Amino acid sequence: MSREDYEVVMGLEVHAELSTKTKIFCSCPTSFGAAPNTHVCPICMAMPGTLPVLNEKVVEYAVKAGLATNCEISKDSKNDRKNYFYPDLPKAYQISQYDKPLCYKGYIEIETSEGKKKIGITRIHIEEDAGKLNHDDLSGGSLVDLNRAGVPLIEIVSEPDLRTTEEVDSYLKKLKSILEYIEVSDCKMQEGSFRADVNVSIRKKGETKLGTRTEMKNMNSFRSITRAIEYEIGRQIDVVENSGVIEQETLRWDEVSGKTFSMRDKEDAQDYRYFPEPDLVAIKLSDEYIENIRKDLPEMPESRKQRYLEVYKLSEKDAGILTSSKYLSDLFEKASEICGNYKAVNNWIISDISRILNETEMDPIEIPFDASQLAKLVSLIDKGTISSSIGKKVLVELFENPRDPEDIIKEKGWIQISDEGAIKEIVLKIIEANPQSVADYRGGKDRALGFLVGQAMKETKGKANPQMLNKMFAEELK
Ligand code: ADP
Ligand code: MG
Ligand code: ZN
Repeated sequence: MSREDYEVVMGLEVHAELSTKTKIFCSCPTSFGAAPNTHVCPICMAMPGTLPVLNEKVVEYAVKAGLATNCEISKDSKNDRKNYFYPDLPKAYQISQYDKPLCYKGYIEIETSEGKKKIGITRIHIEEDAGKLNHDDLSGGSLVDLNRAGVPLIEIVSEPDLRTTEEVDSYLKKLKSILEYIEVSDCKMQEGSFRADVNVSIRKKGETKLGTRTEMKNMNSFRSITRAIEYEIGRQIDVVENSGVIEQETLRWDEVSGKTFSMRDKEDAQDYRYFPEPDLVAIKLSDEYIENIRKDLPEMPESRKQRYLEVYKLSEKDAGILTSSKYLSDLFEKASEICGNYKAVNNWIISDISRILNETEMDPIEIPFDASQLAKLVSLIDKGTISSSIGKKVLVELFENPRDPEDIIKEKGWIQISDEGAIKEIVLKIIEANPQSVADYRGGKDRALGFLVGQAMKETKGKANPQMLNKMFAEELK
């Protein structure tokens, strides 16, 4: 049998850190990047005798996420203890939710090359993040940093509805964009605020029973998720083809070797000895509370896209790219409003900015410059102060060291030469230096003009105004 004889089945568990100001059960700050163990208190360090108090914002954000993913919201929910020991989990249990999650039975719609598809959301529950181990290569030891302990998470569990890597990619991007739109998480993948456990199994086509799955934990790059899934599918097919049996286990993806490795046998729920958290009260929500959150949901990607098609008459593709990220579309709207040239702003975002984001695997939210700086770049080109090829260089500067584009071009001496006298001087110089091209042009070879303009641009390091050059050459050579 070959790969075509198998169907791949996948389901994802996504963890998103919520962007509340404080942690889930204490008032320590959640901000990323502080010195180790400075955002801690007796509660999140698990000192005996301390008691958790649930942060109300966490519930609100989770309900928001549930409503935005078409979930039912539970009016009667609770927290449970999930018992396991790990050095970065000082309580030796994690407060999570077991049998009564806040949100359940939802779906999101994804777009694939085969059309639209609904992916079921089994549940969304709230829980606390663990701390972090910093492995010290010099001493061989590990250092525990508890700043992340108690940072609120939502875990979004999908149904095993995903069949291809394309669907997984599209699902993750859609989910990420929804969470960004409703502003419950910054979803910075490199900081681990948005990470996925990927469950993969295979079965013979036509089979209805699910195969045994393996799980790859804490994946936080789209590229490695795709690679890891492709590898894992191949590995499972190999095992089955060689009359082997897939073990249910937790795997670690190794980016360097491009392989998955076994970490441990997969635990079952019973291994965790879940029981209701005795230190917290049940979470009871009123209809009114839920409806108020529903009323306040912001404009979502689809309706924003629709608006771009109607108001700005953008193409399907452009509107899709812009609205796939709230950050990108905010950038588009703000910069367009400032400079008044939405077509140019759209072009910059769709082409050069997207290309740089892709090449550097940067998330739109990490774009270092702001809308006013992008707007200024567009205006400088519109006014003829710089050419669009210089504009590209300004954009690179904006990514590297963002500042006012006007300062950049002054500093770099990139201001376009649009002075008539100066242009004429260059044109005459180039004419004198290229008698053959001049003769060609006069002899009817229009292409020679392009060459002469090119020489003038080279001479001025791209700074001469190309329209003026064209006009001036044509006049001088008449
Ligand atoms: P756990 O939390 O122990 O990993 P769950 O039963 O909640 O277990 O399942 C987690 C995820 O695994 C879900 O997203 C689900 O869709 C997916 N899943 C379950 N069974 C399979 C399977 N046989 N193949 C692929 N994915 C699966
Ligand atoms: Mg799991
Ligand atoms: Zn604390």
